[in-house]
Amino acid sequence: MTTRLAVRARWALIHEDGGPRIVGDRWIVVEGDRIAAIAGDRPGGVDVVVDRPNLFVLPGLINLHNHVFTESLIRGRSEDLSKALYETNLVYGLLMPFGQLAMQHLSPTECEAIAEFGLMQLMKSGVTTLMESFRAGLTDPFVAAATRAGLRFYAGPYLFSTPDLDIDAEGKPTYRAGSGDADAASLAEWRALHQRHNGGAGDRVRVILSPHATDTCGPDLLRATRRLADEIGCLATIHVAQSREEVEKSRQLHGRSPTELLEWTGLLGRDALLAHCCFSSDSDLDIVKRFGATVINCPRTFARGGVTAAFGRFHDHGLRTVVATDGYVPDIISELRTAGMVSKLAANDPGVATAAQLVDAVTGQAAAALGRDDVGRLAPGARADLVAVDLGGVHVAPVVDPVNALVWRAHASDVWASVVDGRLVVGEGRYLAGDEPAIVARAVAAIDKVTRIGESAGILGRAK
Ligand SMILES: [Zn+2]
Repeated sequence: MTTRLAVRARWALIHEDGGPRIVGDRWIVVEGDRIAAIAGDRPGGVDVVVDRPNLFVLPGLINLHNHVFTESLIRGRSEDLSKALYETNLVYGLLMPFGQLAMQHLSPTECEAIAEFGLMQLMKSGVTTLMESFRAGLTDPFVAAATRAGLRFYAGPYLFSTPDLDIDAEGKPTYRAGSGDADAASLAEWRALHQRHNGGAGDRVRVILSPHATDTCGPDLLRATRRLADEIGCLATIHVAQSREEVEKSRQLHGRSPTELLEWTGLLGRDALLAHCCFSSDSDLDIVKRFGATVINCPRTFARGGVTAAFGRFHDHGLRTVVATDGYVPDIISELRTAGMVSKLAANDPGVATAAQLVDAVTGQAAAALGRDDVGRLAPGARADLVAVDLGGVHVAPVVDPVNALVWRAHASDVWASVVDGRLVVGEGRYLAGDEPAIVARAVAAIDKVTRIGESAGILGRAK
């Protein structure tokens, strides 16, 4: 029998032909995995009711770039670094070797515990769809955790031409030239994972192409990625121009900027999602715009390093721009706020990066980036992916405009309920797929184990 669920909305962000608009005092009625109606009166014959005053109901938030595994491992170690250490060492000297150590020493169950720990935090901040990139060996644990959590999950097992990254004595990344053998092995592994997991959990799990970055994937691998994307009809996501060093490396090796490299190898397209583009020039952004690719803006991870990644710059350039949390604080609501504040500071203009633009970035625009019209909107017939945020708190009241209140005032802890495919996955502010303290304890035990090994391997010592 089809389950019926209803959520009482003091305010709802609904989507009609003319775009999103706020309506007051409605019931969102769900049947099975779809929104059946947005009604004025409380419906009868309902199995699950979410009824609380002051709920703002909006489409489930879509977070298109994230790395909860490494974020969990290095939590508490990535802030307040010296500029030199941050620029050279954070990604290649700490994050990647640490991730590698974890994979060598943790069991699949321990990896899954860390994955669930991170996914749970994101879901408690209103995320219902997540795109997560990670080393290919973590795919099974991640898919298991996401499936249990009930999340809509785009898994991006990395493709690499240079699998063993490290740093030299001066803290510079040591690259090895990409070999055809490494490319072929990476692609073969990806195909097997795609075969195993794509379309799993009632099609909530999709496997996408995730070549790691323009400095870790050679031109041949990027060309092969495009061929595969076209052959399978699959999205591709990649890190682009995330550091000055990457831009220099690309010019040195290929005589092109990272964006020009993607254009040259054919990877750019409507189905390409480009993480960061912080060090892209305006002419690079013109290229991105010409191909209709998406820019993924993750401002807080860069703000931590003193680097400005302004949503407003990309949005006002006319690019489809989404906001995501990256490998840092797994809280999409406060990430939106950071995106707004960083943009206003960068432009010296309070009128850029409005609350409405930022909410659209993680709903309608993010759905468009996925090439979907069944998520990212509240409307009869759409998939029942939604979030209900309690705007009754002392830090929020009085609510003049719920979108304004959500972005500029609300906390992740105000998320009262989340629904994915018609199923309640967060209820009364709690993660429903498992016992929260037990999940935290399992993850912390696994993280402590890697920390001890990292200390004896000297990895933590050199990142101080
Ligand atoms: Zn990233």
